[in-house]
Formats: sequence, structure tokens, C-alpha cells
Amino acid sequence: MEQSRIEQFKEQLVKEKKQLEGDLSESAVKDDDHWETKRPQFDEAGRFGEEERADEVEEYETEASIDRQLETRLEDISAALQKIDAGTYGVCEHCKKTIDEARLTANPAARTHVKC
Ligand SMILES: [Zn+2]
Repeated sequence: MEQSRIEQFKEQLVKEKKQLEGDLSESAVKDDDHWETKRPQFDEAGRFGEEERADEVEEYETEASIDRQLETRLEDISAALQKIDAGTYGVCEHCKKTIDEARLTANPAARTHVKC
């Protein structure tokens, strides 16, 4: 693959990484390399009834599952950026053959071929 094309993918990946980190920081706190979804703040005076509390918990669970997806995507992007630096970008992690550019255009963070 041409170096200029790789640079384009890198630019896209860096941009998406920033976007993801921005999204995650709204609902989660970074702890080393892991993003931990912020827990609902129940007030001590017990202003929340059981029902509100249940709603909050449900909301937290939904948020946490979205954050997990964002975090997984972020890991793929970080891995792709590391591969660019290592000069191994665009190589399938499964069969070690080159991933076609069309697939990388659709998803610059692709780790494998569609069928691998
Ligand atoms: Zn493959």
C-alpha cells in the first residue's frame, strides 16, 4: 500500500479516536487503559424512590453497554495506529495476508479479512 494512503487512514483513525474518547469521557472515567462508566449518584437523603432508583440502574446498564462497544472500537483503532507505526498496517491478524484497500476504506481499523 502506498505510504500516502496509509497516512490518510492514520488521519481518519486519529480523528475517530479523538471522537470516541470525547464520547466516552461524557459517560465514563478513564482508569489506566480502561473506561469505567460513571455510576448514578443516589442522594443520601433518599430523595429517590425505589422506582427512580431502578430507572437509574437501568440507565446505567444501558450506558455501560454502549461504553463497552465504544471501548472495543477504541482498542481496535489503537491497535491499527500501533500497526501503522510498526509498519504492519493492513495485514490480516488471522491469515497474515494483506487486507484489500476497499475493506480498510470501509473500516480503517479492520483487523482481519471479512471471512477470516
Ligand atoms: Zn485473513
